[in-house]
Amino acid sequence: MLMSIGKASFSAEIEGLRVWPAPEKTRVVFDLSDVVEYKVFTIKNPTRVVIDFKNSKSLKQLVAPVSRNKLLTGVRSAEKQDKMFRVVLDLRRAVQIKSFQLTPAKDRGHRLVVDLIDPKIATKTFAVGTRNKPLHEQNAAQRTIAKPQTASVKSVSLKPVLRDLVVAVDAGHGGKDPGATGKRGTKEKDVVLSIAKKLASKIDSTHGMRAVLTRSSDKFLPLRERMVIARKSKADLFISIHADAFKNHSVQGSSVYVLSENGASSEAARWLAEKENSADFIGGVTLETEDQLLKEVLIDLSQNAVLDASTNIADKVLGGLKKVGRVHKPNVQHAGFVVLKSPDIPSILIETAFITNPKEERKLLNPKQQNKLVTAIHKGITQYFSEYAPPGTRLVSR
Ligand SMILES: [Zn+2]
Repeated sequence: MLMSIGKASFSAEIEGLRVWPAPEKTRVVFDLSDVVEYKVFTIKNPTRVVIDFKNSKSLKQLVAPVSRNKLLTGVRSAEKQDKMFRVVLDLRRAVQIKSFQLTPAKDRGHRLVVDLIDPKIATKTFAVGTRNKPLHEQNAAQRTIAKPQTASVKSVSLKPVLRDLVVAVDAGHGGKDPGATGKRGTKEKDVVLSIAKKLASKIDSTHGMRAVLTRSSDKFLPLRERMVIARKSKADLFISIHADAFKNHSVQGSSVYVLSENGASSEAARWLAEKENSADFIGGVTLETEDQLLKEVLIDLSQNAVLDASTNIADKVLGGLKKVGRVHKPNVQHAGFVVLKSPDIPSILIETAFITNPKEERKLLNPKQQNKLVTAIHKGITQYFSEYAPPGTRLVSR
């Protein structure tokens, strides 16, 4: 198995090594100072995976906890000739490999991800198809998918039609589901609808942007239905608006959530298991392959890119909220909320304030305070999209 990615001969430093064991695979992540040219291959007797980094060096000894790992038994590394740096992963048995690089996002820099997949368990879970595609095709597919928002490839005609950027605004709860309730009887479903409507109209009045409300009245909407609405309206961003609750009534402040890694991997398994999903997904890029392993790679890549984008947006929104009021948690939070699980739409969930705190309950009811929240959220969104406007949107043309 031979794989080589990257054309320029950048020199990079390997800053660290992280290992995540999971039932069906072990993920090894190298933190890098830059994009790197690398090769991954396996050697038998004893089984090991070799990663050669071209024009690279490591600043420190690469170590990883391997004592209880099902696949990995050791990590060795050495500088080789021609400025090549070699890392050897010693394994208990043969594995399937997939590898890809990630560009910097938020507080994370360049990364090389090497997944060691246990073929026995992977076969059981995903019933690996006929034969793997040639690897250069996988790479091509990876490049296609790395930017999930480039889905509107169809519009690359002589006169590209620029489109509005679409933000799906989701007011939490509704109808028979009131959400949390404040001391004065304020219902979460009502205040979040009011905030969501204000946010939507502010987005609608922004050049190059358009909002879609998942609900505009007091009606019940199942969680996955909210994702479907976002998908059908080809949303570039999904924002779910909520109000928090806690038994201690003095707890206060806003929080912003993105999907947790666990939530992402369980969703990937769900997508792979559901046949009807396989025809058309990941931002409209059709996965015309029977190869389950390749599909998994593509979903994984899309999720990674989307999670990076979500975290970046969440960070900017949180920064805005910090300026207009208290925050409950100073950092972006991770959770397995269902509405955040779209594998190709950056998604965030905002707990605007604690409805169970009498002071914040009053705030949530006050239109002026609602506007402050909306302005802060809106600022975070526009800040992000001015840096990362999806291709084909009017924002790019400015
Ligand atoms: Zn809620």
